[in-house]
Amino acid sequence: MKIGILAIQGDFAEHIVMLKRLGVETTEVRLPAHLEGLDGLIIPGGESTTIGKLAVDFGMMEPLRKFGKSHAIWGTCAGAIFLSKDAHRDQPLLGLMDIIIQRNAFGRQVDSFEADLDIEQLKQATNTTAPYHAVFIRAPIIESVHGEAKVLCALPDGRIVAAIQGKLLATSFHPELTTDDRFHRYFQQLITPNS
Ligand code: GLN
Repeated sequence: MKIGILAIQGDFAEHIVMLKRLGVETTEVRLPAHLEGLDGLIIPGGESTTIGKLAVDFGMMEPLRKFGKSHAIWGTCAGAIFLSKDAHRDQPLLGLMDIIIQRNAFGRQVDSFEADLDIEQLKQATNTTAPYHAVFIRAPIIESVHGEAKVLCALPDGRIVAAIQGKLLATSFHPELTTDDRFHRYFQQLITPNS
């Protein structure tokens, strides 16, 4: 299995470290040709406006949309915003996931926080019982899910922080900034069921 990490801005290095720990072959993706031969792609956290603008400059918008029609893509935080179809702002979005996002929904950088989440599908997929400790940094919320998109996790107050649509996954938090590799393993299973 080979997983690419969109490496034009943001914390792509942390995703690479996590995947290497799991023994997964990885490659940094900056240009359309880098998508060839990949089984899945991760879009990291960072600044979604910057990721979008650079993706336009690098000619990546259509190749990424095409890739996402038949492959697994996981966006964390800014990456989740970039996957969405609407973020209430004028910025380049892939529009692959039928979700509407509200950026910086928890406030400013100082309002970043951590929370224990109960994510049934994650526990089942990884055969574990512990709650998932999630890190939110100037995080978006998923305001609503539509069509084939489904809620994967919501906070106790109902705000949606993870969604799934077939092989497309969006988390408003950052599993790559923790030592808990369950989300990366879950993503591997989206690529290859029963892996
Ligand atoms: N606030 C950023 C945005 O709106 C996302 C922050 C992050 O990825 N940690 O793009």
